Amino acid sequence: MPKKKTLIIGAGIAGIATAIRLTVKGYDVEVFEANSYPGGKLSEFEKDGFRFDTGPSLLTMPQYVDELFTLAGKQPSDYFNYQKLDVVCNYFYEDGNHIKAYADEAKFTTELSKATGEPEINIKKYAENSRNIYNITNHVFLERSLHQLKTYLSWNTVRSILHLPQIDAMRTMHKANSRFFKDDRAVQFFDRYATYNGSNPYSAPATLNVIPHIEQHFGAYFPDGGMYSIITALVKLAESLGVKFYYNSPVDEIALDGRKVKGIKVNGELHEADTVVSNMDVWFTYHNLLKDHPKLHPQKILQQERSSSALIFYWGINQQLAQLDLHNIFFSADYKAEFNHIWQEKNIYRDPTIYLNISSKYKSDDAPAACENWFVMINVPANTGQDWDGLIANARKNIIDKLSRLLGEDINQLIISESTLDPRGIESKTSSYQGSIYGTSSNSHFAAFLRHANKSSKIDGLYFCGGSVHPGGGIPLCLLSAKIVSDWVA
Ligand SMILES: Cc1cc2nc3c(=O)[nH]c(=O)nc-3n(C[C@H](O)[C@H](O)[C@H](O)COP(=O)(O)OP(=O)(O)OC[C@H]3O[C@@H](n4cnc5c(N)ncnc54)[C@H](O)[C@@H]3O)c2cc1C
Repeated sequence: MPKKKTLIIGAGIAGIATAIRLTVKGYDVEVFEANSYPGGKLSEFEKDGFRFDTGPSLLTMPQYVDELFTLAGKQPSDYFNYQKLDVVCNYFYEDGNHIKAYADEAKFTTELSKATGEPEINIKKYAENSRNIYNITNHVFLERSLHQLKTYLSWNTVRSILHLPQIDAMRTMHKANSRFFKDDRAVQFFDRYATYNGSNPYSAPATLNVIPHIEQHFGAYFPDGGMYSIITALVKLAESLGVKFYYNSPVDEIALDGRKVKGIKVNGELHEADTVVSNMDVWFTYHNLLKDHPKLHPQKILQQERSSSALIFYWGINQQLAQLDLHNIFFSADYKAEFNHIWQEKNIYRDPTIYLNISSKYKSDDAPAACENWFVMINVPANTGQDWDGLIANARKNIIDKLSRLLGEDINQLIISESTLDPRGIESKTSSYQGSIYGTSSNSHFAAFLRHANKSSKIDGLYFCGGSVHPGGGIPLCLLSAKIVSDWVA
């Protein structure tokens, strides 16, 4: 019997992972990608002797990558290797305080307590709370579809529903963190985790306080070949299993027969299949590929607020700074004002929190000798037509002033190569509506229930994976979406 065919729109990490999973399940899978390369937001580029990972820089839960090799009967380490970080991130505060977030929980607790004066017992209680939220939510909100009856028939779900009051969904992250800690720096430290899915700690539910547990307990990692090696390893695996990738192949339309999928159209040519998985942002999937079928659009879901976006400067630096590590954060002196600018004013605060990633600290060939590759990112609003050129010019100056002040170096003098990515570029390069990084925001109490499902309820044979649908954005959740969708298809 011929294998059943599935077509995937987009070779982002979730599209590739779905292709691998469905091929292992016996499907004949073809992936159509608009760009000339795979990876979507997770891509790389080289300039002036420097290599940069374009998007993600923090790897958590690498076991979800390994699992794909194991499923295919391969040894993960033959394809993909990584090391666990002893120090997850370096934090710099405007008051001169400096915190090293050690992976070792006891060491981290002592460090945070020493730096902030916060009693160790408060930090331990917080970790316990974070672990508890993880234990309640993990099996239901992350690993399974919220839109399938069978999810609600499992004991894990029943147990989680019984414990729902403990997930702290009714107050905001900031409110909960302010209750746990007296010191503003400790509150700010934990509020920052809202940005891991592009949300606002002053409105996102305290359920997101699960994120510190994921980073602290499961750890943070650096892939030996840099972040893009995740994509090269997965594409190699997929191709070895027989997945066919077509690049420079933007899908123009999802062809329907009534309310059933008939295939996709690429350059006017119909490719037939009764199962299509879209890894393209769900907003653009409906608005571009199903534009002739507005009645089939899930209007309410598509109107939801988008997550924040990012402004990134990729700087080649002609010096190595010993006080910096792989991941570094320079906090704003006024976090509330910063988020107010992002979410209410829709612009950029004059003192933004700066994330500085330097992969050449771990992979020396990412920069020429005695140099470093700086990925300098701030959170910014999604693109709603702001004067980005003006905002970027101001932000660049403010970032250089802040880093120069806190590092005691004239950073302007050290920049020998520069590229920039802003929400407009994220939107045009990866078809993410408004350039948002994580699909919809998690700023409402019930955001987890309001993300688009992994299957269309109105179009038979149409499925979704990736950061704009359930369970959410970020590499681990995109990989979980691939698991959910491939189980559902099969
Ligand atoms: C600056 C930045 C920093 C980030 N940092 C982190 C981090 O540190 N850790 C982390 O875990 N996550 C991070 N993320 C989020 C993470 O990158 C994403 O959640 C994840 O990569 C999204 O993968 P995806 O599978 O949803 O697809 P995407 O990467 O969005 O890819 C979708 C693909 O579909 C293709 N496509 C779109 N339309 C069509 C069409 N019509 N036809 C064919 N192909 C099409 C696109 O070209 C693209 O390749 C970051 C993202 C950005 C942008």
